[in-house]
Amino acid sequence: MYLCDHCQQQISANVPTYSLIVQTRPVIYPKRSQANRYHKNHRLERPNDAGGEGFETVKTIKVCPDCYRALSAS
Ligand SMILES: [Zn+2]
Repeated sequence: MYLCDHCQQQISANVPTYSLIVQTRPVIYPKRSQANRYHKNHRLERPNDAGGEGFETVKTIKVCPDCYRALSAS
């Protein structure tokens, strides 16, 4: 039993909830030297993390199945 974040209706029990991402932002991850550590053939390996760019989630809402179908179709 939960409140849908979109239609504000109370949804009965045993009805699945869906997470919907409504806002993202671009992000740039910097390069990190020797960021990871692991052993390979009894030697310590310390490879670099190349970094990169992408998107990260800012806001996620919990919606009912009807709202999920309506919002994800558009
Ligand atoms: Zn709803």
